[in-house]
Amino acid sequence: MATLADPNTQFTQLPHPSPVADADRERLIADPGFGKVFTDHMVVIEWTEGQGWHSHTLGPREPLSLDPAAAVLHYAQEIFEGLKAYRLDDGTMALFRPEENARRFNASARRLAMPELPEDVFVEAVRQLALADRDWFPKVPGGSLYLRPFMFADEPFLGVRPAKHYKFLVICSPAGNYFKSGSPAVSIWVSGAYTRAAPGGTGAAKCGGNYAASLVPQAEAIARGHDQVVFLDAAEHKWVEELGGMNVFFAFDDGRVVTPPLTGTILPGVTRDSLLKLAREDGLDVREERYSLDQWRADAESGKLVECFACGTAAVVTPIGRVAGEDGEFTIGSGGPGQLTSKLRERLVAIQRGAAEDRHGWVVRLD
Ligand SMILES: *Cc1c(COP(=O)(O)O)cnc(C)c1O
Repeated sequence: MATLADPNTQFTQLPHPSPVADADRERLIADPGFGKVFTDHMVVIEWTEGQGWHSHTLGPREPLSLDPAAAVLHYAQEIFEGLKAYRLDDGTMALFRPEENARRFNASARRLAMPELPEDVFVEAVRQLALADRDWFPKVPGGSLYLRPFMFADEPFLGVRPAKHYKFLVICSPAGNYFKSGSPAVSIWVSGAYTRAAPGGTGAAKCGGNYAASLVPQAEAIARGHDQVVFLDAAEHKWVEELGGMNVFFAFDDGRVVTPPLTGTILPGVTRDSLLKLAREDGLDVREERYSLDQWRADAESGKLVECFACGTAAVVTPIGRVAGEDGEFTIGSGGPGQLTSKLRERLVAIQRGAAEDRHGWVVRLD
């Protein structure tokens, strides 16, 4: 990647007074789980009205100091991204389609009335942090460095309007597998009482507020013995939209592959887009079209629907074996991972790890 010419985007490197000791780090990355262990560094960039982005730093990860009136604490002006640094088979680290995350971050920013960050600055921030914390790369199968860029309004002001000061940060977390091992397919709960996003709302933006609103239905799914919640559309309460944090795909016995279309209430996943492209390349009849819960049940029961899976950066591709709602439950295929699901997952992972040819230029090497 080219170094950035704009002097405004040079990151000041702040020395770390006390990085985690080697032995402690080795212990932490031996079994990091997901989202629990954090690295030594973080990136911070500030935005001030009239000045734009400034004060780019890569420094020690440390607590933030916030005014209690910071707008984000009251009106939730916050967006985020999630992407992984992988280790390729030849040992170098790489990102997967990071410019897609940068573009989506700015789409989220526009929806939440926040300033856009130049895409090259976003990618450079992620790159610098992954390189600074490369020793944190977990030595576990399927391991990665999960990068979490985010932005929030920290202007102390209780009036309701877009803030005049923001912070953009990137933090980094060594990641193992997202779902506990030993669960080959997940069971999902169709929320009857709650929806995730309404037309005209923030469903297509990656904002913390969407997640806050999904916690009750997700807890309901867990309480009923399921792993995840799946949402129906808010207008008709009929069409399958997505899980709390993953997109969903359906595969049929006639070779059709269906995923709900991007109508503004669904998060446009990078994994979703990549799988659509890979499936089309394989000559599958891939369609972005609406699919109803009633049809889902009927097709599962008739055997027309052979596989179903959820996808996203954190969990990659996860087979859905069982679906339950207030009207009872049904099983998809054998209830375990299907052939297409496994094949698509392997193809994607092989590209991400540098084991398969990267025909689309998706892999961005970090060094
Ligand atoms: C992030 C996210 C996804 C998955 O997007 P990827 O880019 O594939 O990681 C799906 N749904 C929601 C609600 C999300 O926030």
